[in-house]
Amino acid sequence: MLAYIGLGSNLKDPKEQIKRALSALNDNNEIELMTSSSLYESKPLLDIPGPNYINAVCKIETKLSALDLLDLCQEIEESQQRVREVKWGSRTIDLDILLYGGQIILNKRLSIPHPEAINRAFVLVPLFEIEPEIKVPLLGPIKLLLDRINKLDVKKL
Ligand code: AMP
Repeated sequence: MLAYIGLGSNLKDPKEQIKRALSALNDNNEIELMTSSSLYESKPLLDIPGPNYINAVCKIETKLSALDLLDLCQEIEESQQRVREVKWGSRTIDLDILLYGGQIILNKRLSIPHPEAINRAFVLVPLFEIEPEIKVPLLGPIKLLLDRINKLDVKKL
């Protein structure tokens, strides 16, 4: 299965946090890291005070189920000592499963396509960089989604 994961960090050397999370994904026997985007910088959402975020999106091929992939993402977050004080607040690392094949998944633990992330410049711009032709289930071609947002909300590093 092809899946896309969004990564974000704004604490404790964010670039290093993203790098560590990407290698943790790649170290898993059930995952092959196919591509990762450039790093991007974005401001915290809703003007919540805090350092800017570093974001990236990666494409993986995996035999893991979507829930097992979520477990792995959460283990990686734990192992990088994510601090989660307020929703949308600062974090050492955040991993979101953006897309899992062409599947639509909605249960207690998972919403895919990720409903919040998939409208954000810090997800759409790096996703477009690595997969310009992708169609997001329920939402349509990424090119059209990009037209609806302010691309200047992210800066490529
Ligand atoms: P957050 O604070 O943004 O990391 O949200 C974490 C929660 O979002 C977890 O409890 C997950 O179960 C839930 N969640 C729902 N959909 C997703 C998704 N597509 N990827 C990652 N977490 C998800």
